Amino acid sequence: MTGLDPLLVVEHLSVEFPTDDGALHAVDDVSFAVMPHETLGIVGESGSGKTVTSMAVLGLLPTRARVSGAVRFRGQDLLGMREKDLEKIRGAKIAMVFQDALTALNPAYTVGDQIAEAVTVHNQIGRDALATRVRELLTLVGIPNPSERAEQFPHEYSGGMRQRAMIAMSIANDPDLLIADEPTTALDVTIQAQVLEVFGRIQERTESAIIIITHDLGVVAGVADRVMVMYSGQQVELASVDDLFYNTRHPYTAGLLASLPRLDRRADKADRLHRITGQPPSLVFRPSGCSFHPRCPEARIGGLCTEVVPELREVAQGHLSACHFAQDIFGVERVS
Ligand code: SF4
Repeated sequence: MTGLDPLLVVEHLSVEFPTDDGALHAVDDVSFAVMPHETLGIVGESGSGKTVTSMAVLGLLPTRARVSGAVRFRGQDLLGMREKDLEKIRGAKIAMVFQDALTALNPAYTVGDQIAEAVTVHNQIGRDALATRVRELLTLVGIPNPSERAEQFPHEYSGGMRQRAMIAMSIANDPDLLIADEPTTALDVTIQAQVLEVFGRIQERTESAIIIITHDLGVVAGVADRVMVMYSGQQVELASVDDLFYNTRHPYTAGLLASLPRLDRRADKADRLHRITGQPPSLVFRPSGCSFHPRCPEARIGGLCTEVVPELREVAQGHLSACHFAQDIFGVERVS
């Protein structure tokens, strides 16, 4: 594998859960790649399939899930891998940061002990080197006075510091890939910015690639290299972060952007036009055609939008959109 090979390749991933009403299509034909050292943001509302996608990558789906497609990490097929082998990859090569740091940390042990345990699960390391490593990790995630802080218990940490301690545990083994699921959701805006800075620092100072999963496009704006937007278990747009924000090519993304608070302008007419109303559809009884059509302000009723599922296609260099009318709506030149 060279530095130019993707670290993670997901191809035509679909995940279904059987229900009494029929199959629930949690993830539908999703494909993407993550390059070494890249930060990919996966954005969508609750139920869009973003977390199920990451669980499939980590092999953490319940056994009743029906999974198809391929997930390859450094060329190794993860979907076909035995649990014993997957366990060696999880935590050491691919690590996860969960949303709820308070419940994820054990209140009975010091933060330093818990970080030390994360290091020693996959490494034999002497006592002094271990203490140094714990301090290094706390420093990397921006926790001051690491020697004293390592001796404290989770309840002595603020919410933002607990989240940073969780991130320190996740990167304890220098993972090649860090997956952070809604890492800032429970935090106020100022602390959110501090935690996001930590991801920027990890990207600068380590070799890790990062996937940040969030419902909030604002979260990925400052940290992601590329962003994939999901809706109803499907990809609707994938582009570099700048292209996604400044040359949006899908009405759903335009709606998400229009609902972001902006200090630099009042809501204008374009924002009002693109604002998303209604609720995401059922994943069992998905609307025909484009699953966004019942909420899309641009939908053409009685035609392609309601009858034909739009393909994810390249509408500009490196910019994919699953909208039949991306060109008409956003004035883009079709590449293929
Ligand atoms: Fe809207 Fe039609 Fe594009 Fe779907 S295909 S996003 S309904 S315009």
